[in-house]
Amino acid sequence: MILGGTSEATHLSKLVALAKINATLSFAGRVKRTKPQPIPIRIGGFGGPEGLCDYIVQNKITHVIDATHPFAEQISWNTFKACTDLRIPFAALTRNPWVKEPGDNWKNVDSVKAAAIMLKSHEPKTVFLAIGRIQVPEFKIAQQHKYILRLVDPFEGNLPLKNAHTIISRGPFEVSHDIKLMSENGVNIIICKNSGGTGAVSKLLAGRRLKLPVIMINRPKLPERITFHSPTEIVEWLKH
Ligand code: NAP
Repeated sequence: MILGGTSEATHLSKLVALAKINATLSFAGRVKRTKPQPIPIRIGGFGGPEGLCDYIVQNKITHVIDATHPFAEQISWNTFKACTDLRIPFAALTRNPWVKEPGDNWKNVDSVKAAAIMLKSHEPKTVFLAIGRIQVPEFKIAQQHKYILRLVDPFEGNLPLKNAHTIISRGPFEVSHDIKLMSENGVNIIICKNSGGTGAVSKLLAGRRLKLPVIMINRPKLPERITFHSPTEIVEWLKH
């Protein structure tokens, strides 16, 4: 079973299908429009580590690949617990974090909440807020700013920010497009998670070009496990 919700998981699913390895791709169900996949999918939580154990046993899963987003902390710990308890092989497929370059103006914080607290004391700004939709309410404490939100699906319910412009779009994004978007909207600060990878890096490259400051949210602590950075390595690992 591949735990997904990332472009890496989609890439891995294609390779696994080509290698004719039986597999299922699991989604949490956060995104409304799931892209077509080359292997069967299942959608929804398992019910904690115990539910995940039951699913693994009932479906005779022999290997689990955690290809979830580096900020999907809970499912990664649940996978670690379930697979350790059941003693079945598991591995992670993850991206390297983005690295600050000379000239970059990054302030690193350890959580979305800490980013909101930091922003609370700033003079009014136009903020490119690229953190997904679930934790947007944390920014209720910093209403003096205008927010540009780029989301895969519209925000459910009333947006808790008084001055916000939402763009519904799914990556990968182009640097030239993001430079234009940030310039036209007068963006003067970026807030993002250190997701890593190429699909969402355009905002940082655009910000670098425009010399914008960044509040960078560090990755959460994840369990220690066998970790690969490319889907090809995972397929090799599965074959042996
Ligand atoms: P999370 O906090 O780690 O997980 C919360 C709960 O969602 C888990 O306990 C589990 O429910 C369920 N879940 C998460 N991933 C799942 C999966 N692949 N298959 C089945 N159930 C799953 O996760 P999250 O941060 O909300 O992320 C949810 C999904 O969005 C993940 O698939 C992740 O890869 C993707 N994603 C997350 C981010 C991000 O910034 N966090 C960004 C892009 C994509 P049960 O306990 O009931 O099993």
